[in-house]
Amino acid sequence: MSENHPDGFLKHPREAIAYRDPAARIGDYKEVYQETWEEKRLAAQGARCMDCGVPTCMGGCPIGNIIPEWNDLVSRNQWLEALERLHATNNFPEFTGYTCPAPCEPACTLAYNDSPVAIKSIERAIVDRGWDEGWIVPEPPARRTGRKVAVVGSGPAGLAAAQQLNRAGHEVTVFERDDEIGGLMTYGIPDFKFAKFRVARRVDQLSREGVAFRTNVEVGRTMPLQTLRDEFDAVCLAIGAQQPRDVPMPGRDMGGIVFAMDYLVKENRRQAGKEISDPVSAKGRNVVVLGGGDTGADCVATAHRQGAKQVVQISINTKAPPERNSGNPWPEWPLIYRKTYAQEEGGEEEFSLDTVAFLDTDGDGDVNAVGAERVEWTYDRNGRRVEKKVLDAELKIPADLVLVAIGFRGAQMGPFANSGLEVTPRGTIKTDARMMTSLPGVFAAGDANMGQSIVVWAIGEGRDAARCIDGYLMGASKLPASLRTPNPPLNV
Ligand SMILES: Cc1cc2nc3c(=O)[nH]c(=O)nc-3n(C[C@H](O)[C@H](O)[C@H](O)COP(=O)(O)OP(=O)(O)OC[C@H]3O[C@@H](n4cnc5c(N)ncnc54)[C@H](O)[C@@H]3O)c2cc1C
Ligand code: SF4
Repeated sequence: MSENHPDGFLKHPREAIAYRDPAARIGDYKEVYQETWEEKRLAAQGARCMDCGVPTCMGGCPIGNIIPEWNDLVSRNQWLEALERLHATNNFPEFTGYTCPAPCEPACTLAYNDSPVAIKSIERAIVDRGWDEGWIVPEPPARRTGRKVAVVGSGPAGLAAAQQLNRAGHEVTVFERDDEIGGLMTYGIPDFKFAKFRVARRVDQLSREGVAFRTNVEVGRTMPLQTLRDEFDAVCLAIGAQQPRDVPMPGRDMGGIVFAMDYLVKENRRQAGKEISDPVSAKGRNVVVLGGGDTGADCVATAHRQGAKQVVQISINTKAPPERNSGNPWPEWPLIYRKTYAQEEGGEEEFSLDTVAFLDTDGDGDVNAVGAERVEWTYDRNGRRVEKKVLDAELKIPADLVLVAIGFRGAQMGPFANSGLEVTPRGTIKTDARMMTSLPGVFAAGDANMGQSIVVWAIGEGRDAARCIDGYLMGASKLPASLRTPNPPLNV
């Protein structure tokens, strides 16, 4: 029990930083969350933390953020110290403070029979304050090692790896195929979920620390991987897992069927005032989003902002229950139904619909409807669909624009086809316990290593890879280990 605020959770109800009114936010591309927060209220939220002997919240956070410590510091108005604790485990707390699904919160002890501490809101408040106060500044290394590392890909994994390696004294160059740095934080996640100035600010920090950035370089195509291996002492591949999963159904080659990522990136580019080839707009159209996940939700929210006539998001799976079932106890992530921020803004959700065909009813070559079956699934104990019973085979859903958001098949390995890099059956880059690939001195991190995941995992992967690379180059590493891999074997 916390010494400083033993009964905070009895005095203060949970109060997270709110989202803006859906009716207002749908009319713009500003972030969906409230822009400001009150220091006093956040301090009270920090005081709700019981500082449990075993902080299960930290186990829920993939990078092991030292949550009880910064909760306590915030409750005592020690914001600078809280920021230092936060940065000890997380290079970019605003990336997570704004976008993380917060697996720490259902793992909080209070969540057992009460509302959890508003951990994500406190994290965001600490880092917001850090930027506002000018506390976040470049931290260049005191000494250089003379070793050079190339990081390929500039998403959260690549940026975290680059910052850690540079702070260990290595000379780091980040290579990125896009025209902007940031990976999915820049091109993928909608502007209204994560404003892009937040990435630019970190790129500026890294540049001032000494990290070099080269955009419009696609390694394996415009720059051979072997050149990097020859010119650098180590290479870190943080290329993401953006290979989209397709729907090979009758009618797939019709017009009006677009991968979610193509659609979302075009909107990011439009918001940035950049050139777009073949623009896609949902304005006045019946939109069907295939896929019940978060990428699908971002498509729903984007389509509404573009002025869609109707948006239906289809999930093949059965709707999750409203409460945890007995096989899914605390502190596990609750497998329950949650209405997404996108559905709060409008649209319809359909579950247990198996899409079977794209239909062109007027013969103009463009899709007009999606043919689907209403089904009932039997699942195995691992949650895999094994058997389906068709309840209605004749469903037709109007669709002038279909957005395919049914997941990803692993890393985009086309450019590395003849490189000797081995891949796993899941399409990720094969690595050993040191995060090294089948090519000596070449490492992999982030979604490229673990498959499409979430931002906090990518940051953790980048930090772990940096520690492994530092150990490979120097024989040992003083870079911090993450909770997941406390002691990755070093140069063995
Ligand atoms: C639409 C969408 C919304 C999401 N929303 C959230 C969210 O709200 N919260 C959350 O936690 N997670 C979210 N995620 C997941 C999260 O964005 C990813 O897990 C995370 O960005 C992975 O980071 P990464 O650095 O491994 O890869 P990425 O962010 O994918 O970055 C990989 C980078 O490598 C570059 N690259 C690839 N190949 C090459 C090459 N050959 N040469 C040079 N560069 C190359 C790419 O251009 C890209 O910039 C979302 C994902 C998507 C698709
Ligand atoms: S990074 Fe995510 S899981 Fe970790 S403390 Fe922050 S919100 Fe929680």
